[in-house]
Amino acid sequence: MDDMKLVLDAARFAAEHHRLQRRKGDGVGELNLKTPYINHPLTVAQEIAVTGGMTDANVIAAAILHDTVEDTDATEADLRGRFGDVVTDLVMEVTDDKSLEKMERKRLQVEHAPHLSRGAAHVKLADKISNVRDLLDDTPPSWTLERIREYFDWAKSVIDPLRGTNPALEAAFDALYAKRP
Ligand code: NDP
Ligand code: ZN
Repeated sequence: MDDMKLVLDAARFAAEHHRLQRRKGDGVGELNLKTPYINHPLTVAQEIAVTGGMTDANVIAAAILHDTVEDTDATEADLRGRFGDVVTDLVMEVTDDKSLEKMERKRLQVEHAPHLSRGAAHVKLADKISNVRDLLDDTPPSWTLERIREYFDWAKSVIDPLRGTNPALEAAFDALYAKRP
């Protein structure tokens, strides 16, 4: 598929599937609305392209789609049919197995990190950048300081095995980690 078509179609597909979801942060603005979920995958894609300087359309499309199979009714087969194997394989590399316990999924992310392909490693780095930034700037109201700290440390343990993938993204993560509350 043409690069521009692929990326725009990924954005439409992700927006449609995440349409009823919001991020966990506090409400913002006059109406106290929580941020639409789609802002997160778009931020992940933007981080990869702008901060990371990586503009491979398959990786950008995978970044935009990275939470669709994990968090919506979209299936792996839906992605294969619409976006092909390269993009779908990247998304599946960063998709947790939801049938496992939460703590086991977190442990597996650390274990799998050194085996990620270069493209998937870019998505993983940018995903953790977006999430730790949101914990600083758009903190979920119910989270304790301890839980935020634990998340920062776990994110670092996923990122550390990926070092050497993209120095600019790694530096962006480190700058946020330095603000760990
Ligand atoms: P969660 O996995 O519950 O939440 C973090 C995830 O939420 C992020 O990875 C991100 O995933 C998504 N997210 C959505 N909105 C935001 C936002 N504004 N800022 C940051 N992330 C956002 O958190 P934990 O990893 O801490 O949970 C681990 C387990 O421990 C869970 O079962 C939790 O219920 C439990 N727990 C832990 C406590 C503690 O003190 N550590 C206290 C209570 C419960 P994505 O990229 O997919 O959007
Ligand atoms: Zn994500």
